[in-house]
Amino acid sequence: MYFKIGDKYHGFRLIDEKNVREVNSKVMLFQHEKSGARLFCMENEDDNKVFSITFRTPPKDSTGLPHILEHSVLCGSRKFPVKEPFIELMKGSLNTFLNAFTFGDKTMYPVASRNDKDFENLMDVYLDSVFYPNIYKYPEILKQEGWHYELEEASDELKYKGVVYNEMKGALSSPESVLMRKLQETLLPDTPYGYESGGDPEMIPNLTQKEFLAFHKKYYHPSNSYLFLYGNMDILGRLKFIDGAYLKDFEAISVDSAIPVQKAFDSMRSYEIEYPISFQEDEKDKAYLSLNYAVGLSTEPELYQAMDMLLHILLLNSASPLKKALVGAGLGKEVFGKYDSGILQPVLSIIVKNSDAERKEEFIKVVLETLKKLVRDGLDSRLVEAVVNLKEFEMREADFEPYPKGLIYSMKIMDSWLYDKDPVMHLSYEYIFEKIRGSIKDRYFENLIEKYILNNSHSSILVLKPKKGLLEAKDEETKTKLKNIKAHLTNEQLKELIEQTKELRKWQNTPDTSDKLTLIPMLSIKDIDKTGEVLPQRVKEEAGVKVLAHHMFTNEIVYVNLLFDTTAVPQELLPYIPLLSGILGKVSTENYSFEELSKEIDMYTGGIKFSVQVYGEQNDESIYHPVFSIKGRVLAGKLQRMLELISEIIGKSGFDDVKRIKEIIQESKSKAETKISNDGYAIACKRLLSYFSAEGSYMETITGLTYYRLIADIEKNFEDRIEEIKRNLEKLIGLIFRKDGLVVGVTCEEDDYKSFINCMDLVFKELSSKNLPAVKYSFRTESLNEGLMTQETVQYVAQGYNFIKLGYPYTGKLQVLKTISRYNYLWNRIRVQGGAYGALSGFEKNGNMFMVSYRDPNLKETLKVYDEMHDYLRNFQIDEREMTKYIIGTISRLDLPLTPFAKGERIIENYIRKITTEDLQKEREEILSTSQADMKALADMMFELMKRQSYCVLGNEMKIKENKELFGSLVEVFA
Ligand SMILES: [Zn+2]
Repeated sequence: MYFKIGDKYHGFRLIDEKNVREVNSKVMLFQHEKSGARLFCMENEDDNKVFSITFRTPPKDSTGLPHILEHSVLCGSRKFPVKEPFIELMKGSLNTFLNAFTFGDKTMYPVASRNDKDFENLMDVYLDSVFYPNIYKYPEILKQEGWHYELEEASDELKYKGVVYNEMKGALSSPESVLMRKLQETLLPDTPYGYESGGDPEMIPNLTQKEFLAFHKKYYHPSNSYLFLYGNMDILGRLKFIDGAYLKDFEAISVDSAIPVQKAFDSMRSYEIEYPISFQEDEKDKAYLSLNYAVGLSTEPELYQAMDMLLHILLLNSASPLKKALVGAGLGKEVFGKYDSGILQPVLSIIVKNSDAERKEEFIKVVLETLKKLVRDGLDSRLVEAVVNLKEFEMREADFEPYPKGLIYSMKIMDSWLYDKDPVMHLSYEYIFEKIRGSIKDRYFENLIEKYILNNSHSSILVLKPKKGLLEAKDEETKTKLKNIKAHLTNEQLKELIEQTKELRKWQNTPDTSDKLTLIPMLSIKDIDKTGEVLPQRVKEEAGVKVLAHHMFTNEIVYVNLLFDTTAVPQELLPYIPLLSGILGKVSTENYSFEELSKEIDMYTGGIKFSVQVYGEQNDESIYHPVFSIKGRVLAGKLQRMLELISEIIGKSGFDDVKRIKEIIQESKSKAETKISNDGYAIACKRLLSYFSAEGSYMETITGLTYYRLIADIEKNFEDRIEEIKRNLEKLIGLIFRKDGLVVGVTCEEDDYKSFINCMDLVFKELSSKNLPAVKYSFRTESLNEGLMTQETVQYVAQGYNFIKLGYPYTGKLQVLKTISRYNYLWNRIRVQGGAYGALSGFEKNGNMFMVSYRDPNLKETLKVYDEMHDYLRNFQIDEREMTKYIIGTISRLDLPLTPFAKGERIIENYIRKITTEDLQKEREEILSTSQADMKALADMMFELMKRQSYCVLGNEMKIKENKELFGSLVEVFA
């Protein structure tokens, strides 16, 4: 189809059109004249199509209105009057992405699918939701998603409840996320960015239904919207649909939603915020210090790229001078930075973690003096070049796994389009790289440092300080507030609240009628492929080593994965394997200092990563394959250089630089702590699996709490333990880097395979040819039912067991059960009624099974929900259409499109786990043929699984102590 600038297509006038080579797309900008909507289109070969609609939604307080509205418009609409169309789509569409996001200045609704019909269905539901939501009809929606008073009996305590209320309590309970959310507030206090768009739990109860509706009326109009289409599709057909079904019914209006620019400060402003720690914890070394700068506008494309590079140069490479200076001064254990360019005035932050509030001035001084010195003496040009190369590699690769490419581009274009500038601005980057490269020697980055940091008074210093008992105090405050409110209520009003609580519960518990549910469009089983995609697997033998080669278009990138068998490592050394993975590549080798090594890696490759992995076999949790994995990505022309670097690292790393090792360990410990606060559900789940599975125990030892404990202890007793650590690391090198048991995965274009084989010997020559027997590990598996206590305000409640041990085989039908439990049973009971952010379940091929709640305000109530699941299954009633929906949703999860890198990883995984194409096909057929009776038949299995009473909870200390009779032992996580 040929489009002409100036012509009108279904109400859309084409304003601009061009080819953007860097993203392989023809891009077009349209204006819908009647409604005032804008539409940007990226037409290309990608079959993973993306649509999104975004509204400019600047908040005017911290009640979280934009965020609550984002949740609420997905709770039913004119054409789709069911309670949660979003969930219906999650259950039963072929979406490859479906979500919604609230940012500081915009709210975005993206969908993606590879199936044309499905794609149109998703667009239809999303457009109807944003323009015609049921929020006007049902005040229950704001109550459920935002906040409400809960009172079941007059004698009960009055409580606040609500999905977003709880979500934000959880989100703001980790210090890192508090910090990240506050950075922009400190620099842009007089703009919408000065508010918490997600909602501050203390402010959320100020939101009224009236303001809520007025906000929707004002901002959710086509004239304030930004539509986006991406991929291989019939553009004209899409325009016709959007116009005919929606936009033609709106008249353009003028919406005042422009984002104002914050006036620059005259001098640096200082802020201090507290975050909670427990009474047992030490306040020492627990502060975060952050120095922040407002740097120009996000609509300056060169600056936008250059600042991202500058952050990397200063802080993110092991050779980064500012990072070295800060670590060297002992100011903190972890140093990092952030460049937030998704707002009108981007913010550059320099952050140290595990510091002390009193060292604020010293921190500022070290930063400024280091930067002054760098400006005076010049930056290391090799480091600068390396970072520019790495950034270029990342842009070329555009691997945003697990997100669709189009989704990431849709966000990127908003960084200019939302502020009334050209949406293409940040998509074409080659000319910028060329320009920056040409100016490096003319003090390009030194000038940036001078202008945007040293001479920039629009800056802030933010100190995030630990405070004992803060959580308890805040809780008490809310309780008192609610007590006061209750005390002032008349008997009449109390009755009314009780009535309202009941009404809301009733409304939540009333299922949608099936005639309403049928309004949600869906595919039929015959639209689903009977056979799954077969991934090309070729197992070859090269120089005595197994090589899994996968040839596909990779844009000239070669992905290499070296998987070393670690079964020769004695049990007591297991937690040292992840330690080794954290140290390799970061310490000096015979021929390179660690700084040089780090520069070489960025200069020539897209990254070399070391990690530990465990692959469980099917049907038996006691058989598993632990590996040490080295993953590298590189342009084909630089392959040899990458393999040289890998061989240098595995063959010639030294562990004598004790100071360096200490720095790495401090940083690893700090990162592990962040992981525990961010992924509490994963820690709880791993711990749970270790109660009944050997594979789970191994996994827990190397990536769970056990590993964290080791690293915390090493950090604490470093001087006493360093000799032993060095010895152990040396030992591991000999036990792991052997040719025996090595599996190599390589994903590349056909022509590049030969050159890979030709230089493989570079790595092989460093490997020992010793054959060592596999160690037999023995783990004590028993249900410890621990309560893992932290200062979070929420819980992660995990329960499960192994069904194969109980005599139930694995079947694809369990994947359908997973979909059903996630979007029906667990969703209703744990999220909708319980107020948790969500809950997941897993049924693995080796029989391991778990359910885990996410950011859950409850504890024993959630365990009860798990215990009662068998009842739900026994009474499982569902019509044909609903069942089909769950089957489609299950298949869509299995068929998610993979990037070349991810395909390679999947092939390796299947090979090591001995999963064949036939196994996968059998699983698929089991899924496709699932019936209501199959689900009922799983009730007994679920009953027996839960009867084992194997559970683990990570979360709020007080809450766990209140329920201490439930636990085998109580464990302080950060002791
Ligand atoms: Zn949310």
